Amino acid sequence: AVAARTPLIAGNWKMNLDHLQSIAFVQKLAWTLEDKKHDFSDVEVAVFPPFTDLRSVQTLVAGDKLPLKFGGQDLSAHDAGAYTGEISGAFLAALDSAYVIIGHSERRQYHGETDELVAAKVAAAHRHGIVPIICVGETAEDLEQHGPSAVPVAQLRTALEGVVAGKEIVVAYEPVWAIGSGQAATSAQAQQVCEALRALIAEVLGDDAAAATRILYGGSVKANNIAGFLKEPDVDGALVGGASLQLEEFASIVRFKS
Ligand code: PGA
Repeated sequence: AVAARTPLIAGNWKMNLDHLQSIAFVQKLAWTLEDKKHDFSDVEVAVFPPFTDLRSVQTLVAGDKLPLKFGGQDLSAHDAGAYTGEISGAFLAALDSAYVIIGHSERRQYHGETDELVAAKVAAAHRHGIVPIICVGETAEDLEQHGPSAVPVAQLRTALEGVVAGKEIVVAYEPVWAIGSGQAATSAQAQQVCEALRALIAEVLGDDAAAATRILYGGSVKANNIAGFLKEPDVDGALVGGASLQLEEFASIVRFKS
């Protein structure tokens, strides 16, 4: 991580916690961080609850002026209309979503999301002033066949076609083999791919965008490995799944500096 880029710790709850549970969790998270005097200017914290929780989380964050960001785990590539079951960027923006996760490997795997669809969703996020967290990552098979960076770089190259010039993005490198497996990448492996992703951003969007863009690592991030990732020059935070549902563990990840 480089000082100019504020680290982002993002908690991807996946399909866990209903709207009542989300209120209790966010309240306790805020108290825990407040208790430990967490400096929010140092590390940004965001949570990604299921859609049905967003209104509750927004009301709580706004009402109690909590220094937490939040967003959706996905959005539609369309803005409105006959798309049964979909959630538009406009709806997410109306609930103050700062970010939206796009192209998570579980969306790619279980919902057939392609790089082209990911690009269209990035464009949709930008139309509504939401910062997309663009997820890329290789499977174990990809790694064996193509080496560490080829697949994530190719995925990001297409996704960047959706970027509206001058608008912020966040990239999350999540090797599929590391997600939920307890087998995180090493910090050196994460750095190697994040460096390649930053070089691609420089090539496509320019040096300023590359210097400003935060690139997160995700995949079995825990309190005991976060500091190693954040020491790497091109890793600027983490997308945390399982550990984001464990209050003390997630609070410790957020407080990786202490
Ligand atoms: P994990 O999930 O932290 O449980 O490995 C990460 C993710 O899927 O974003």
